[in-house]
Amino acid sequence: MKIFEEIESEVQSYARAFPRVFNRAKGAEMFDSDGNRYLDFLAGAGTLNYGHNNPLFKKALLDYIEADGITHGLDMHTKAKGEFLQTFNEKILKPRKLEYMVQFTGPTGTNAVEAALKIARNVTGRGNIVSFTNGFHGVTLGSLAATGNAHHRGAAGVTLGGVNRMPFDGYLGDGIDTTVYLDKVLSDSSSGIDLPAAVIVETVQGEGGINVASVEWLRNLQDVCRRHKVLLIIDDIQAGCGRTGNYFSFEESGIQPDIVTLSKSLGGYGLPFAVVLMKPELDQWKPGEHNGTFRGNNLAFVTAKEAIDHYWSDSKFQDEILEKGKYIGRRLDDMAKKHGEGNFSTRGRGMFRGINCVSGELADKITRKAFQKGLIIETSGAEDHIVKIFCPLIITEALLKEGMDILEQSVAEICGQVDEIPEEHDFFSEAS
Ligand SMILES: *Cc1c(COP(=O)(O)O)cnc(C)c1O
Repeated sequence: MKIFEEIESEVQSYARAFPRVFNRAKGAEMFDSDGNRYLDFLAGAGTLNYGHNNPLFKKALLDYIEADGITHGLDMHTKAKGEFLQTFNEKILKPRKLEYMVQFTGPTGTNAVEAALKIARNVTGRGNIVSFTNGFHGVTLGSLAATGNAHHRGAAGVTLGGVNRMPFDGYLGDGIDTTVYLDKVLSDSSSGIDLPAAVIVETVQGEGGINVASVEWLRNLQDVCRRHKVLLIIDDIQAGCGRTGNYFSFEESGIQPDIVTLSKSLGGYGLPFAVVLMKPELDQWKPGEHNGTFRGNNLAFVTAKEAIDHYWSDSKFQDEILEKGKYIGRRLDDMAKKHGEGNFSTRGRGMFRGINCVSGELADKITRKAFQKGLIIETSGAEDHIVKIFCPLIITEALLKEGMDILEQSVAEICGQVDEIPEEHDFFSEAS
């Protein structure tokens, strides 16, 4: 279609990697306007954890629209918002013994991050924020200052201030606990690092290359924050909503962040929705101080509630994610071993996984090849050297296997071992 070249801005990016016109999608499958079918292992970068057009939510959404339910409500109380809050409190917060106030921000992840940084700065009266190498927190100026990526930072056009960068877990190699360095600079009044209002961190860095913070590192980070009376913000926009297995990605570590940001799959249906969760004593906002026209996307409240009701009322979904995650991990380990000539490695947690192809060029060739074979999959990391496996969490075992087979075949062909046909992988047979 010529119209895209004619008037759509050069800023487009995914459209370049997947140059088709898509017009229909269901679950983990997408279809272009020529009727070609694709498996979606990108899943809206983590926005479609429950798949495209999930029938369980679609029904609720259609009923709501049919009954002339409120679509836009600024931040007024609506029935849909009330029901979302009720469900979120009863089924997500209370069972996890988390006590948070919920702030509805503008519906993008970056707006939730902006609000989180503001509240941390205003409550503590400190301007500085600590973020981590390879962290990604969005591209509006406040969030962008906390983001590491040079390509994104370069577009700011102004000096990005108010943030100091610290090494993420593993940045200095195995066996070095980088929270020791953070503790040291915060203890030394002449370190040159101003005592921050907060530390903001992803438990698994999504855009930064699927770097996984260990449970111990997260606990140590929380200890350092508490020792220095610095707030801990977990940016769970990509890793949250089940991607790593639990609803919140930090559950396994047992830490209790002061502030949490959620977006992407929160709305459940791919509808824009973002919140900031904060400990009650931090909720010192004055009415309307942080506002936004689209804080009341009620259609997203409806589907978000449905998502929680259907998938998070018991532990079944969680168990499935962990099971599928193990399968993905085994398949990736296999690919690395068979085709990586000792250079490839794998990483990730739950269904948040990747294979490190070392070279960005190689990873790019692999994802292009996969796309030719009908698999939509992207790369991440500083050099785009990680192939990122990000299928919807609800994917069937058959489609998951099909996608992993396509990926393996693509890796084999690019790495020059075309004759290797992927061996049969029985879904749940191998113990791990
Ligand atoms: C995607 C993402 C954001 C930004 O969300 P937008 O909706 O794109 O503004 C922030 N933090 C993390 C960890 C993300 O993955």
